[in-house]
Amino acid sequence: MTETRIQRVAVLGATGSIGISTLDVIARHPDRFEAVALTAHVQAERMAELCAKFRPRFAVMGDAMRAAQLREMLAGSDVRAEVLFGSDALADVAAHEDVDTVMAAIVGAAGLPSALAAARAGKRVLLANKEALVLSGRLFMDAVSESGAELLPIDSEHNAVFQAMPASYVRNPDKCGIRRILLTASGGPFRERSLESLRDVTPEEACAHPNWVMGRKISVDSATMMNKGLEVIEAHWLFGVPPERIDVVVHPQSVIHSMVEYADGSVLAQLGNPDMRTPIAHAMAYPDRIEAGVRSLDLFEIARLTFERPDVRRFPCLDLAYQALRAGGAAPAVLNAANEIAVAAFLERQLPFQAIADVIAATMERAQGLSVDSLESILETDARARQLARAELAARQVR
Ligand code: NAD
Ligand code: MG
Repeated sequence: MTETRIQRVAVLGATGSIGISTLDVIARHPDRFEAVALTAHVQAERMAELCAKFRPRFAVMGDAMRAAQLREMLAGSDVRAEVLFGSDALADVAAHEDVDTVMAAIVGAAGLPSALAAARAGKRVLLANKEALVLSGRLFMDAVSESGAELLPIDSEHNAVFQAMPASYVRNPDKCGIRRILLTASGGPFRERSLESLRDVTPEEACAHPNWVMGRKISVDSATMMNKGLEVIEAHWLFGVPPERIDVVVHPQSVIHSMVEYADGSVLAQLGNPDMRTPIAHAMAYPDRIEAGVRSLDLFEIARLTFERPDVRRFPCLDLAYQALRAGGAAPAVLNAANEIAVAAFLERQLPFQAIADVIAATMERAQGLSVDSLESILETDARARQLARAELAARQVR
C-alpha cells in the first residue's frame, strides 16, 4: 500500500451511471475512500438515499427548488449534509480544501467549469466527462500542469491506454517509442445494420447498447460512433498524440479496451470484462490495485476476439470528429455543442437518427471566428454553437 490516509472524494454526477459505479467502489473500501461531496442535477429523492448511505458533508443539486426538496427530505433524518445548488457550488466543492479527489462524471459541457476548477485546484482528477476535455483541450491540460493536478482517465479506452504506457510517460510519443494508439470501439447497437435501415431507428433502440449500460446521451453517441470521435480528441489531449497516430478499431466483444503500439512492433493491450468499475477502481487506487467487484475474464467463454474497420459511410460522426481535431481551435467545441443539441433532439423524437451528423456538419460550417482560450470564451463558443445548431434544427423542421 502506498497511501494509508483516507482519500476524500467528491463525486460530481453521483446519480449517473459512472457516479453509481464510483460509489460502489467507495463502499467496498471504507478504509481507503470517503465520499465527502455528492452532486446531482434533478433527482432529489435518489440523492436523499445516497446521502443516507454515504453521509457526505456537501450535497449539491442543480437548482434552488431541487435543493429545497432535498433539504426537506433530509430534515426528518439524522443526515447532516450541507445542501447547496448551482454551477458555482459545483466548482466550489470540486476545489474545496477538504477534497483530495474529484470524480468528474457530469455529462456534457455542463461539467466543464467544475472539472476545470478541480484541475486548477491541483486535485487528483478522475476524468469521465470527456466532453469537458473536448471543449477545453489545451486550457484544461495547461491547468493540470500549472497546478500539479494528477489527471487519471476513467473512459475505459483511455484508462487502458494509460495502463499500456510506461509509468514515465511525458505526453510525447516519440520520447517513449510510441508509434500509435489503437482505440477500440464496440461498434454500438447498429454495427450490423444497413445504411437504409438506420433511417427510422428509435431512441430506445439507440440506447440499448450490446455491452455497456450507460447514460442516454453517451449511449446515442455510441450508436452514431460520435463517442469514438470524442474519444479520439480526448486521447489527443490526454496523451499528446497527433490525430494521424490515433486509429479506431471496431472490436464487438469489448474485451480489449484499447492498445498502444511501440516502435519495436510490440502492441500492449488491456483486457477485462466490460465493467466501468475496473477503470474507476484503477484510477481511484492508482498506483495500487484493489478489488472492484468485477468478475474474472473467462477467455474460454469468450473464445473469439474479432476486429473490423469502422465504416464512416454509415457512421459519418467519427469522420466529423477527426476533421474537427485536425482543424483545431474552436472546431472540437463546436462539434461537441452541435452534437449535444442534435442528440437531445433525437432523444425527444424531433430529429431522425441519421440527421444528427448533418446538423453537426452544418453547424461546423457556419461557426466562424470563435475562440477557446479562456473558460469564458469557451462557454461563449459553446453557447453560440448551440444557437447555430438550434437554428439548423428549426430550418429542417420548416423544410
Ligand atoms: P448519466 O446520464 O448516467 O449521469 C450524468 C450525471 O450528471 C447525473 O448524476 C446527473 O445528475 C448529472 N448531470 C446531468 N446534467 C447536469 C447538469 N446540467 N449539471 C449538473 N449535473 C448534471 O451519464 P453517465 O453515463 O454516467 O456519463 C457521465 C460522463 O461519463 C459522460 O461525460 C460520459 O461520456 C462519460 N463516460 C461514461 C461511461 C459510462 O459507462 N456510463 C463511460 C465512459 C465515459
Ligand atoms: Mg469509452
